[in-house]
Amino acid sequence: MKYYTADRMITGDRGRCIRYGGVLVDGEVIRWAGPGHELPARLRRGSKHIALGPLTLLPGLIDSHVHLALDGATGAMDRMRAASDDELYALMLRNAAELLAAGVTTARDLGAPAGLGVRVRDVIRAGLAPGPGLVVSGAPLTPPDGHCWFMGGTCAGEEALRLAVRDQAAAGVDLIKVMTTGGSLTSGPASWERQFSEAELAAVVDEAARAGLVVAAHAHGTDGIAASIRAGVHTVEHCSFVNATASIVPDPELIRRLVSGRIHVCPTISRRFTDRWDRGERHQLPALPVLYREGVRIVAGTDAGTDGAPHHAYVDGLLGMARLGLPPEEILRSATSRAADALRVDTVTGRIAPGLRADIIAVEGDPLHDVAALRELRLVLAKGVAVRSPRWVLK
Ligand SMILES: [Zn+2]
Repeated sequence: MKYYTADRMITGDRGRCIRYGGVLVDGEVIRWAGPGHELPARLRRGSKHIALGPLTLLPGLIDSHVHLALDGATGAMDRMRAASDDELYALMLRNAAELLAAGVTTARDLGAPAGLGVRVRDVIRAGLAPGPGLVVSGAPLTPPDGHCWFMGGTCAGEEALRLAVRDQAAAGVDLIKVMTTGGSLTSGPASWERQFSEAELAAVVDEAARAGLVVAAHAHGTDGIAASIRAGVHTVEHCSFVNATASIVPDPELIRRLVSGRIHVCPTISRRFTDRWDRGERHQLPALPVLYREGVRIVAGTDAGTDGAPHHAYVDGLLGMARLGLPPEEILRSATSRAADALRVDTVTGRIAPGLRADIIAVEGDPLHDVAALRELRLVLAKGVAVRSPRWVLK
């Protein structure tokens, strides 16, 4: 067993920060966590003490929206379309390792060409390649010629959608991803245009539920957000509230329904946003500040892999959320315990608590004071194994 102590430990439970905290790691699992002086002597005996001193321990980070099959540079979609499955598989493993090195110990992949997400998830789970614990969808369901049709998830009509859900469930996906609107990164319908009827979306949610799965809905336009909520999706991705004149106009009634329906929203703030902010392009801000103010359950996710959002830049997305006015405590929750709730892995990871997987990071400084401290990453434990650490911890 290894016993890690640090001057501060953020457990991931709401606002809880322990002064001189300690966490005892037994293989892959957290055995004990709390104020260091409370560790029972019987547990202390036989464990190796690793004193991290002025660092802050916190749960490993969670990216709730990634695309491992995209490389994060301009033109990522075109390169994905041109690549073979073998090339994409190799790229996905590389990107998974990149996420982990950035402190992301859990990620949800929301769309790769058919079958690849499950393969990569299982290879990492088996310990054959480094990467975060993955929750994966299959190819996103979309109409013929719809947003991201080239990933292979095209379906026309209710019956085809039900069949696709059953096929993906049988292939071992963790959830279903559906494109309810168009998107800006591919040709086809515009971001604000809805792609499926309400009956079609309801069929997707119903068939997924039959297989014990939930649905993540890609929805930029207000019409698509409304239809997603009515259909009973589990999470809304992007949730941009963009309308036909390309303006962002959050709808108060829909926001109330997101809150009352306890629907998690992943606004996908990434380095693409912070880069625009740094260039002074602030004429049209995302809906995130309004969503936060009204009490929507926000989870952090970067759409990593899409143009301008490389996998190693996860923390930039959190800094973007800070620039939009979210306080550090809220950002950390959205990146740890609440994200674990949204991904339905809260009994596995997302907090520093006994019985959970030992997914833990340590950073210089205090991220509850300034989220930028997360850039100063000093230790990453994934399932108890140090994948990034000072030499004196590894040995
Ligand atoms: Zn996406």
